[in-house]
Amino acid sequence: MQVTILGHSAGGPYHGRPFTSHVLHIGNEVILIDCGEGTQMQLFHHRVRYDACQHIFITHLHGDHVFGLMGLLTNWCLKKREASLHLYGPEGLQALVEHTAQVCGVRFPYTLKFSIAPVDDSAFVLDHPLFTVQSFPLHHRMPTVGWLFREKPRPRNMIPEKIAEYDIHFSHIPAIKSGEDFAHPDGRVIPNSELTKDPLAPRSYAFCSDTAPSDIVITAVQGVDLLYHEATFCEEHTEEAQISYHSTAAQAAQIAVQAGVGQLMIGHFSGRYADEAQHLSEARAVFQRTMTATPGLVVEVG
Ligand SMILES: [Zn+2]
Ligand SMILES: [Zn+2]
Repeated sequence: MQVTILGHSAGGPYHGRPFTSHVLHIGNEVILIDCGEGTQMQLFHHRVRYDACQHIFITHLHGDHVFGLMGLLTNWCLKKREASLHLYGPEGLQALVEHTAQVCGVRFPYTLKFSIAPVDDSAFVLDHPLFTVQSFPLHHRMPTVGWLFREKPRPRNMIPEKIAEYDIHFSHIPAIKSGEDFAHPDGRVIPNSELTKDPLAPRSYAFCSDTAPSDIVITAVQGVDLLYHEATFCEEHTEEAQISYHSTAAQAAQIAVQAGVGQLMIGHFSGRYADEAQHLSEARAVFQRTMTATPGLVVEVG
């Protein structure tokens, strides 16, 4: 599980900050999370291969999270994309895409599927062979959801030398990797623990785009390996954070502490700050394992 950061700005492209979008790689899947204006430029700039993307998750319909979506969808029209594309987001996403396409004369040569996430409760929105995706409500000025990506447990790793040692036919290997002992033709039973090694633990990543501090978030992201949480403001602007349903860096870090996460990534920085040094120091004072969502940053989760 790997995350590539494309942008970290709130509101406008101040100080050259690109808008929010993350790319999540799980196995061969390429997943886009939020798609602010200029996301395609960032994909090109950071050399992310994204044509295989089949799932796009949108947290809410504020422009800084979604105004890059139509550009991306119509570019795939020009490229004569055939593979279907699944879009996930709160109510209004389908209307936005279909209405804009109609007004702009866009005809999609590929199938678009929509899954609308509820904004009042958590919900499983995708059950993929490798992972699951769950939505949960965020506390923002408009209907907004966060996304939780969880890898499924992997099969055990076969120890290659044991295949030769016990002359194990390949037809037995799936059962052994699932945890079964091996019944040797000579009558011996070889315990699974001698044949396999533990797989990597399943990893998890949660994405909280725009939100005031929320108990629902703390519950939803409990124990994740990497939490992305917005940190629009610094401590001195706590009141503005409250009025606009955003968070300070320290509040994001407090969420990380209460949820017991492995690492915290903060982003969505207000244009009033020329750099993110203050955000980072205020967050680290509360939760040391914090990093900033710098464009181009690639993070291995877990
Ligand atoms: Zn925003
Ligand atoms: Zn917003």
